[in-house]
Amino acid sequence: MTENLRVTLLGTGSPTPTPDRFGPSVLVQAADQILLIDAGRGVTMRMQQLRVPLAHINALLLTHYHSDHTSGIPDVWLTRWIAFSENPKATTPFNVIGPTGAKVLMHHLEKAYAADIAIRAQDIPPKDPKGISVTVEEYIADGVVYDKSGVKVTAFEVDHGPAAKPAYGYRIDYKGRSAVISGDTTYNENLIRHAKGCDLLVHEVACARPVLMGDVHFKRIMSHHTIPSEAGRVFAQAKPKLAAYTHFIMRSTAEVPAPGFAELMEQTRQTYDGPVELGEDLMSFEIGDEIEVRRHKTG
Ligand SMILES: [Zn+2]
Ligand SMILES: [Zn+2]
Repeated sequence: MTENLRVTLLGTGSPTPTPDRFGPSVLVQAADQILLIDAGRGVTMRMQQLRVPLAHINALLLTHYHSDHTSGIPDVWLTRWIAFSENPKATTPFNVIGPTGAKVLMHHLEKAYAADIAIRAQDIPPKDPKGISVTVEEYIADGVVYDKSGVKVTAFEVDHGPAAKPAYGYRIDYKGRSAVISGDTTYNENLIRHAKGCDLLVHEVACARPVLMGDVHFKRIMSHHTIPSEAGRVFAQAKPKLAAYTHFIMRSTAEVPAPGFAELMEQTRQTYDGPVELGEDLMSFEIGDEIEVRRHKTG
């Protein structure tokens, strides 16, 4: 148990399959609580790299229902049950919290995997059916959606475009430490309000070379996401102790290559001169009196 709030980026990619950047997912650890925010591609692999048992996840919190944020759910949910037999926590239901849509999603996943569940339930030793059961809590407005062992999670609505409603971000508070996860959003005042003065602000970003800024496809993507100069405006107003980018959408075309991180930072610096990290998979932030940034050693 720690007095610190620890946030680890499990996946920092976008829908584009990228071997070194898995799908969006954030691990939050504080007190005896282990929370997962979104479950993108490869989340179970990153959890294994950290040696955090899937069975120990207290809750999965979803930001919205784009598949890049949810495609890892069946893997987490089913694998934790398979791996449960030696763990006493293996008997607790899988706890999912999200805006409207979580119930439908989980209900249909239970149907889709009914055959697998029925087969494995007969394995030796028999699996506890509670371990594969799902509890879903949906919310419909901003507010506290989780509060255990002093770890409080507040959901706040963001703007991911009119078609991707509902879409939310989360603020985690623990013993005076705080972290905010933007979810997928364009520049958003509600996010700024909830992120004011937080320790860590993890924000999505979409970037393209200036020549593509007029491109019709990029414009469409940008109406749902945040370009670096706009993210910089968010950081400048929220004034987190540390900002970190995740969910990198680096736009390219056949003629114009994707921008590099130097360009992304250059565009960020047009509007923000405070501390900012380029997130990586398995980068963790130990939030105490100071914020310690750690990179995962491979091998
Ligand atoms: Zn999305
Ligand atoms: Zn996304």
